[in-house]
Amino acid sequence: MLDIEKKELMIQTLKNKVNKQLLYYLDVCARCAICRDACHQYKVTRDPKYIPAYRAELIRRLYKKYFSVLGKLFPKIYEAKDIDDEFLLSELYQVTYACTGCRRCMYYCPFSIDTLHILSVAKAILLSAGMENQILRELSDAAIMKGENIELFKDIFVTMLKESEPEIREKIKDKNAQIPIDKKNADVLYVALSGMHSILPAAIIFDKAKINWTLSMFEAANYGYFLGDSQKAKTIADRIVSEAKRLNVKEVIITECGHAYRVMNFFYEAWTGQKPPFKVSALIDSISRYIKDGLIEVNKNPSSEIVTYHDPCQVGRNGGFFEEPRYVINAITDNFRELTPNRTKSWCCGGGGGLVAIPEMDEFRIKTGEIKANQIKETEARIIISPCENCRLQLDSLNEKYGMDIKVKSMMEFVAENLKV
Ligand code: SF4
Ligand code: SF4
Repeated sequence: MLDIEKKELMIQTLKNKVNKQLLYYLDVCARCAICRDACHQYKVTRDPKYIPAYRAELIRRLYKKYFSVLGKLFPKIYEAKDIDDEFLLSELYQVTYACTGCRRCMYYCPFSIDTLHILSVAKAILLSAGMENQILRELSDAAIMKGENIELFKDIFVTMLKESEPEIREKIKDKNAQIPIDKKNADVLYVALSGMHSILPAAIIFDKAKINWTLSMFEAANYGYFLGDSQKAKTIADRIVSEAKRLNVKEVIITECGHAYRVMNFFYEAWTGQKPPFKVSALIDSISRYIKDGLIEVNKNPSSEIVTYHDPCQVGRNGGFFEEPRYVINAITDNFRELTPNRTKSWCCGGGGGLVAIPEMDEFRIKTGEIKANQIKETEARIIISPCENCRLQLDSLNEKYGMDIKVKSMMEFVAENLKV
């Protein structure tokens, strides 16, 4: 049983979150169940608690208990629940942190009910109860700690970058090619993920395109967003915003990481009330522009292997990039075969929402990725491209579990491999 102070805090949190948008979502649901079969998690598990409308129902029951007259008068009839009801809180935790935030349910819902938005309220309540996901909290705190002590990490980082530069010079036949860091007045600040796999191919592309760029010392990933803690998420994003301002760059390019792009391009303004003072781009968009503008050229049909493409939910349905990746793939190969369905109707791979970082979710996410694995097998493709780190990690797991016999690549890797030099 939660203590009275915590209970009061949870009620206050819910109260603070009640606005027109939430009330619309809670009021308008017609219980039509169309969202049920749009959710890969319900479709694979057949467990009713994963029906999107049921997840929202848990918040609706709390709302009725504390803010609706009928719910207060007739709690049994209206299924109103106490905010410290242990069973409810345990279900709320499971269905909230299980949701990948793919928003396929919203796309199919006749009223466009955004389950992800409702579950952001659930995360706020769980946080005020001290029941947030611990792994996501630790990862968020580690990112904040790194931001506060960046000088401790800088030397190792610079050494790692210097060791990789010969590879770029060899690849693009340019003895001056480098990975610049801390470069004032660069046009572009590129924000990668941790690890050279998201730095090296991008550096090859930027250097070949002769972009005046510099590399961020921070990673794009924002676990505060997955945690549902907008204060931590803002602090993590602020590291990048401050760096971009200090270096006076014109554009921040976020690597192939769907949620990181959305954080910088959409949520940062919502959290701070201020637009970042620079243009925010997604790397996939920049690469497609560089090819269109003739800044880089790619080799056509380097192999006859069938190539397919997974629309990451945060890049496609929630980010709006559908044609850019297809333009790039078609510039390299005539052997592109679409997954069915795709674009707005694309199935989630099952790994979003931070699930790939949570070991206790491994079995569940790999099981619920079965639909995606079957879709991929049907194409008989030998290469799958996906411009999102979460998706690629999940696709690697699916490859192993479901014997897909496929190479999983990022778009920057695919382009760098096939760059004309
Ligand atoms: S956002 Fe995706 S995972 Fe979450 S409930 Fe909707 S369909 Fe299911
Ligand atoms: S599809 Fe929309 S209206 Fe129908 S049950 Fe799901 S959330 Fe409610």
